[in-house]
Amino acid sequence: MARASSGHKYIFVVGGVMSGVGKGIASSSIATLLKARGLKVTSIKIDPYINVDAGTMNPTEHGEVFVLEDGLETDQDMGNYERFLNQNIPSINYMTTGSVYLSVIKRERNLEYAGKNVEVVPDIPLEVISRIKKAAETADADVTTIEIGGTVGEYQNILFLEAIRMMKSENPDDVATVLVSYLPIPGSIGEMKTKPTQYAARTLNSAGVFADIIIARAPITIDEKRRQKIALFCNVKPEHVISAPDVKSVYDVPLNFEKENLSGQLCEILKMNKCSATSDLKEWEAFVAKSKNGNKEVKIAVVGKYFDSGDFVLSDVYISVLEAIKYSCYAVGAKPRIDYISSRQFEKGEGLSKLSSYDGVLVPGGFGETGIEGKLKVIQYARENNIPYFGLCYGMQLMTVEYARNVAGLSGAHTTEINPKTPDPVIAILPDQVEKLAKKNYGGTMRLGAYPCELLPGTIAQESYKEKTISERHRHRYEVNPEYVARLEKAGLVFSGKSPDGVLMEIAELPKSVHPFFLGTQFHPEFRARPLTPHPLFTAFIKAAVESGEKK
Ligand code: GLN
Repeated sequence: MARASSGHKYIFVVGGVMSGVGKGIASSSIATLLKARGLKVTSIKIDPYINVDAGTMNPTEHGEVFVLEDGLETDQDMGNYERFLNQNIPSINYMTTGSVYLSVIKRERNLEYAGKNVEVVPDIPLEVISRIKKAAETADADVTTIEIGGTVGEYQNILFLEAIRMMKSENPDDVATVLVSYLPIPGSIGEMKTKPTQYAARTLNSAGVFADIIIARAPITIDEKRRQKIALFCNVKPEHVISAPDVKSVYDVPLNFEKENLSGQLCEILKMNKCSATSDLKEWEAFVAKSKNGNKEVKIAVVGKYFDSGDFVLSDVYISVLEAIKYSCYAVGAKPRIDYISSRQFEKGEGLSKLSSYDGVLVPGGFGETGIEGKLKVIQYARENNIPYFGLCYGMQLMTVEYARNVAGLSGAHTTEINPKTPDPVIAILPDQVEKLAKKNYGGTMRLGAYPCELLPGTIAQESYKEKTISERHRHRYEVNPEYVARLEKAGLVFSGKSPDGVLMEIAELPKSVHPFFLGTQFHPEFRARPLTPHPLFTAFIKAAVESGEKK
């Protein structure tokens, strides 16, 4: 029986036909549009895998691991939500099948079910529902979007569909479901086909869930005939079929949805009286316009190791980094041209001169041995040839190793992650990590989430942030070895950001008089870069790259 509404509204976003239809961008865009209608919004992601969080997965499996302020390692979609909404999202907003089962099993072990038979249904969906409601309450959200990973019809996400069904039957007016589906145009037929979407809608129906809105993803805009066909066969009004053709930039998606009045339709379906009649998208439109107006091309090489998947290039692995570069380019009126380069090709020290055609080089975070010597050669080349260099996490640690070896005279220097027997462990394991690794306690145990950092006046870092103390997100087990700080400083490396107790080196750089931009951060600034608020360090790097390009 329906209960009185709690005042919170919920929009579930599910995917049909195939993975990769853009549920994440659809969820982010819906949330952005509802925020632009004056509503308080938050966004949840549910992932169907058994991993308790995304931290133990290789990024080539599932894309970038995004880290929240409070340290949870999540799917990259959480990054999309934060970027689109320009707001931090707490860890209660992320769950996986593994994390849900873990809570239920722990509760059972604690006798919290008071002797009851604990069952997959309803106890798993009930745990999902309780987390969704807690997230809505924590954010005091008028409306919460909940993206369900996977594709309808998969065995893996059936319990999440059951959670939708249960929430809807409790409060029909508070729950809406959006099916993001795909309409292929097979080359041999040359016609847009609706049948896969019809099947997806019916599969959803068989779980007791009915789509209120169908987002019709396709290479091109859907025509009237197919809109009517989908409406007829999938039980939705024609105006609830939203056309979503391929776009050059994901940031166009909210604006395209709005042309079809998507947020207006949702406000109506959910009877959201607070929803203002029009959406205020001025800032977003200004950002999108800027993203198209850049004239000077700036060429950035991102040198990493996780780029190949069969014959395809996986740029998703570094998505926050790539987006951060773009925002700063747009902010300074430049047009980004980003090339992904695998560091393995430089292992022998050959082919480095191709880097001189770039205006800037960036080495992102990473783990393990693959491609390390190649990255070190790239960093040395950038330093010696005055190419602006930006190192993130591993990119900062390796920059320190390179400097120790080639400038401070410690030729055998290394990180103990790669060579535990190095004569000069300039990068060493954080003391509290030793025991965790000895016990194979890997999941969720790195130094994670936001920590404060104090900046040294007169440095590039401090002049970029224009603040004394900042806070940034971390994900690492190793650090600059405090025993080597004095020697590295003496050799000219400046530690311009340190933890408030002075023990952890958070930013390393060379003075501007020595190099136009040679800077690395132990933290991941990319997790805080947003379209409407680009990151100050990325902007400083891009400015240096633009200037270096102009000199060529
Ligand atoms: N592998 C390094 C560490 O664990 C760097 C991690 C990273 O780049 N995120 O400290």
